[in-house]
Amino acid sequence: MAKVLEVQKLCKSFGGVEAVKNLSFDLVEGQLLAMIGPNGAGKSTCFNLINGQLKPDYGSVVVMGHRINGYRPWQVWSLGVGRTFQITSTFTSMTVLENIKMAILSFHRRTKSLITRVRSLYSDESMELLKLVGIEDQHDRACGVLAYGDLKRVELAVALANRPKLLLMDEPTAGMGAAERQSLMELTADIVRRRNIGVLFTEHDMDVVFTYADRIIVLNRGELVAEGTPDEVRQNSKVQEIYLGSRA
Ligand code: ADP
Ligand code: MG
Repeated sequence: MAKVLEVQKLCKSFGGVEAVKNLSFDLVEGQLLAMIGPNGAGKSTCFNLINGQLKPDYGSVVVMGHRINGYRPWQVWSLGVGRTFQITSTFTSMTVLENIKMAILSFHRRTKSLITRVRSLYSDESMELLKLVGIEDQHDRACGVLAYGDLKRVELAVALANRPKLLLMDEPTAGMGAAERQSLMELTADIVRRRNIGVLFTEHDMDVVFTYADRIIVLNRGELVAEGTPDEVRQNSKVQEIYLGSRA
């Protein structure tokens, strides 16, 4: 299985805070890798080092064989790295279908001058994506009126529009109820396995993590403290200590 992501000795500090400290891990295609750890462990910093929002102080990030240190976010995206964005403000007044078409348009590198034609472009491809995430019946509704769980599915479809080989999901189920979380992650797992996409995700709900992750890495204070299958991580005494505060 090909590696879609290789993180090597990554370091990032903010002032005196070592947010990410000598972090190394790999992700292969078709795999769901959960990154867990308490608040402030360095998870979002790590995501932002991978997606181009932040530059590492030391170490490197290799995406599909490209060392991406110093790449801008759009350059990382154009390598086939998808990420879930919250759909906010202007995008909520557009319909579900229009949002997906916009994302597909960007993928095909069309320019803003074509936005007026967005209604007529890429309909089939957009509807296919909406079917994939199970909300094709909502295509004509404004995103702003959708149920929260359906909006999260639109966000997933948008992230899939550039046909990523690596998908970054930082708290994709934030704000969702327990049942909705399970169903969104089940859907994600099903899609990424069929499309052979590697996924790095964070998630607070440990039931979701242990059910859907193939592998788990655990961060604490910026450092990798455990890595393995869900069973291995569950039984790891350092992890139990961090999560339960007990010396198991
Ligand atoms: P997590 O996502 O695991 O909760 P973060 O990556 O957001 O953790 O934060 C890791 C540490 O880095 C925290 O101590 C946080 O306060 C600090 N940090 C994150 N981003 C910044 C920033 N832009 N400026 C200063 N400190 C930051
Ligand atoms: Mg975070």
